[in-house]
Amino acid sequence: MPAFIIKRLPVRFTYDNNYFNDAYQGIPIGGYNKLTEGLLEGTEVRLNENYFDNKEYYDSLAPKIVFTGKIDQYYDYQFGKLQYRSLRFDQQTLDTDNYQGSALVNYTEREIPYTRIIEHKHFEFGTQPKTVITHEHPAEWDESNEPFYPINDQLNNETYKKYKALADEEHNVIFGGRLAEYRYYDMHQIIGSALKKVETHFAEAN
Ligand SMILES: Cc1cc2nc3c(=O)[nH]c(=O)nc-3n(C[C@H](O)[C@H](O)[C@H](O)COP(=O)(O)OP(=O)(O)OC[C@H]3O[C@@H](n4cnc5c(N)ncnc54)[C@H](O)[C@@H]3O)c2cc1C
Repeated sequence: MPAFIIKRLPVRFTYDNNYFNDAYQGIPIGGYNKLTEGLLEGTEVRLNENYFDNKEYYDSLAPKIVFTGKIDQYYDYQFGKLQYRSLRFDQQTLDTDNYQGSALVNYTEREIPYTRIIEHKHFEFGTQPKTVITHEHPAEWDESNEPFYPINDQLNNETYKKYKALADEEHNVIFGGRLAEYRYYDMHQIIGSALKKVETHFAEAN
């Protein structure tokens, strides 16, 4: 396992059971949908369309496009496929107002088949009479499920570097995000990265 992956997890000798050490932790009030809906207000949005089904048409819509899909797919897998880990979500609605008292509980034991249980209402201090929980099971990735986490081992990183070299030569495509840059981002990091990309690519427009 590359050192940077294990370095994402803080080691602490305290009783602080938060995932990270950040002073402020949480999600935007109303959730991320509210945030993205606000950002996209007044912009045409089309859902459930696959860029690769009509690449030429989408490329013609603007002088620059932001591509957030898989970079290996963008280049027709010419250097081979990048690998991912996936997940299987098992969701249940329970007839209780509180299941685990916390938005997230991790399970690290080998004998337990899921890695964590999310209890969604606690992200927003919900007071509903019922509760929705999700068990997250690790899953192999193939074309039938979602590519969630890049596997940044040496082989995949070397393959990615070859795709990145091609991407660096593109002037009309901005490759952004976890699939196009083949790296793990937390939400605050991906938002920071998007803002940085705006500065880099559109500075001259201001
Ligand atoms: C299971 C899981 C749990 C996570 N938990 C946390 C957490 O607790 N805290 C935290 O800070 N971060 C968490 N993250 C990370 C967070 O989800 C990511 O940082 C964020 O979603 C990355 O944004 P992105 O724009 O790079 O990618 P995405 O959010 O995946 O956006 C990429 C978009 O591109 C679209 N797309 C891809 N291919 C195509 C195509 N061919 N045609 C059209 N559209 C396409 C996708 O549909 C998607 O909408 C988690 C991630 C996962 C997978």
